[in-house]
Amino acid sequence: MSYIKSNIEFIKNEINDACVKVGRDPKDVSLITVTKTVDTERIQEAINNGITEIGENKVQEIMDKYNDISNVDWHMIGHLQTNKVKYIIDKVKLIHSVDRLSLANEINKRAKQHNKIANVLIQVNVAKEDTKFGIESEEVDSFIQSLLNLENIKISGLMTIAPFVDDSEEVRQYFKELKSIFEYIKSKEYKNVEMKYLSMGMTNDFKIAIEEGANLVRVGTGIFGKRNYI
Ligand SMILES: *Cc1c(COP(=O)(O)O)cnc(C)c1O
Repeated sequence: MSYIKSNIEFIKNEINDACVKVGRDPKDVSLITVTKTVDTERIQEAINNGITEIGENKVQEIMDKYNDISNVDWHMIGHLQTNKVKYIIDKVKLIHSVDRLSLANEINKRAKQHNKIANVLIQVNVAKEDTKFGIESEEVDSFIQSLLNLENIKISGLMTIAPFVDDSEEVRQYFKELKSIFEYIKSKEYKNVEMKYLSMGMTNDFKIAIEEGANLVRVGTGIFGKRNYI
């Protein structure tokens, strides 16, 4: 059996176990397979083994691979430069990384040109790390309010990248915090806002994220192995 196939089975089992542990239905958690730096041949193998959601963190990689890969939904999970929105607006199902008004405005404008509603998540820098993008927790509500008049954007949830730590238990607090912001925004019942997706958890911490309410997990290394950056 190929390592990609067995890794997918392993991760799916782990997702299942985490759900069972806290009484959630595994069907409510979607696995986004993160394919950055991974060639199309290996991506195709993942697809052949049941993967339907693909996550990339660079616009260029989406464009390079898009025509070679079919029957999947693409997720833009990385920092997005405003001037590159036009290249992916018609390609991705969900943009996970909206973190500033200028970006939201550009997504809105390009979505309008394509006659579509762009589904986006607000990226939150829950741990306030200098190295990470994202809105600070205290600012999420006012930021969302500043986007409410953008008619071609649908705010569909929240996303965070937890700090990289040796003991993944340390990040539980950040997942708890994002979940509580998620519930708070939901309670506000804003028009154009549907708190549907909570995107949190990567290879090192997805089980804890699921225990804390994640319904989109983004796993790369756990499926393809360590990335080779050249
Ligand atoms: C790379 C990346 C992931 C996947 O990370 P792994 O540790 O390889 O699972 C998830 N989310 C984002 C935003 C990423 O850039």
